[in-house]
Amino acid sequence: MSISGKTDIDWQAFRAALGGIQVIDKAPLVKRKSRDFFWYSPVLDRQLKTCFGDLVAQPRNKEELIEILKVAYAWAVPVVLRGGGTGNYGQAVPLDGGLIIEMTGLDKILEIGADFVRVEAGCNIHRLNQALKEKGRELPIFPSTERMATIGGFIGGGSGGIGSIEHGMLRDGGNIIELVAVSLEETPREYSFKGDDINYLHHAWGINGVITELTLRTAPARDWINCIASFPDYRTAFEAGIAVGARRDLHRKLVSTVDQGICAHFAKLRKHIAEGRHLLLSLIDREHLGPFEELVAEQGGQVDLALNMADMAKAELPSVYEFAYNHTTLQVLMVDKTVTYLQVLIPAPIDADNVEKLHKLFGDEVMMHHEFSSLGGELVAIDLPVVRYTNDERLYEIIATYEAHGCPVSDPHTCIIERGGMKKADYRHLAYKKRLDPRGLLNSSKSEEWSRVKDMEPDAIEALQDLP
Ligand code: FAD
Repeated sequence: MSISGKTDIDWQAFRAALGGIQVIDKAPLVKRKSRDFFWYSPVLDRQLKTCFGDLVAQPRNKEELIEILKVAYAWAVPVVLRGGGTGNYGQAVPLDGGLIIEMTGLDKILEIGADFVRVEAGCNIHRLNQALKEKGRELPIFPSTERMATIGGFIGGGSGGIGSIEHGMLRDGGNIIELVAVSLEETPREYSFKGDDINYLHHAWGINGVITELTLRTAPARDWINCIASFPDYRTAFEAGIAVGARRDLHRKLVSTVDQGICAHFAKLRKHIAEGRHLLLSLIDREHLGPFEELVAEQGGQVDLALNMADMAKAELPSVYEFAYNHTTLQVLMVDKTVTYLQVLIPAPIDADNVEKLHKLFGDEVMMHHEFSSLGGELVAIDLPVVRYTNDERLYEIIATYEAHGCPVSDPHTCIIERGGMKKADYRHLAYKKRLDPRGLLNSSKSEEWSRVKDMEPDAIEALQDLP
């Protein structure tokens, strides 16, 4: 019996072929493991809520993973890899049914060096950060889903996050030192990628290989102070964000501005937010708190809260980063299911007049939220606005308005990799898919271009990357 209704595989026999490897085959649990945070998008929610896998395999080590891959190849079973399941474009949803491989059993921290860590892909990011802190180090960049997400899922599905203001995007040189992946072939092989070659697999949504091991750069651990500064209007808060973002002499792990219409939903911070004020949420190194406070005052704001991580925990407050990145939308969605979000780039040099113009144009329909970040060495703002959803047509009008104002949108309402942030096919990903996944079993329906190139030689696919 197929839970997905999309495969005609004898799942009991397949399960028997996996021998003693742990699996989940109860339909309610398989269905739960088929979901991620796609429901952020009403468009994806309609498309994906009835897409399920048929069986979940839970390897406890690399040997079991390789055995699963061998059997999946022999049976030509569609495969989707799953870490913590926190992606929000349905990246980990099995569109074709089939096997879900949950990677969380491969969770060993293999080596912590002076300025690097070598770790298995299924390791929880919070656990990894805790282990690093014991050695005086931390991850330079991590997602706001740190507590749930795996490091392999972050490299497979994410792009940047807390720390991107100082360390850029994951793909920027040196953040990922080595990526080891296993192929889905008759006899799975291990491949190692270093330098720019890392981008053959990074952010490929698990379509072209199973990341098993990562070597990542680490940064000195700092006593990060959770700061909430408030401002009378959004423009002033935004300009303060630019000013703090531009101060490279200060250690900042997060610089985020949030419209008061959003802050009104931050129930856990209520005691610390004055009504009607717009916020700058930051993580600032304790050593630089003084200059930060001066800067906020110069920009017309006031610091309403400044506590380190331990004191936040004592006060039963989550870190400010749980109100940043995609958590900002989540805080609103927890009380108001009628909203959704977008992902917009405010390019360098940041034009505050343009942002104010858009703010006025959209009014309460689009509540702004910007993450200041370093992109290619320049300061940019990533707008993750909370949008009042009416219908798809209006949503795409809002996207078109942003784009008409010179602000490109990475559409978060599609689960097709080429239609999202990349906007075009990444033929390096697809060439490696052909090399590491010759039968096209890994999450293939997430790429519409795959069906066009799958019969070509890998080198010919890769050559398409250089075409205009
Ligand atoms: P999953 O969701 O399980 O998987 C993500 C993708 O990677 C899928 O396509 C999956 O097939 C693939 N994958 C998983 N494991 C492997 C593997 N071992 N090898 C190859 N492919 C694999 N993203 C950011 O970049 N920055 C943020 O700050 C951020 N904040 C978020 C906040 C919220 C509230 C939510 C819901 C999402 C956020 N995201 C963010 C998106 C997502 O959380 C991150 O990308 C996260 O790190 C994904 O990790 P995961 O283990 O949950 O991966």
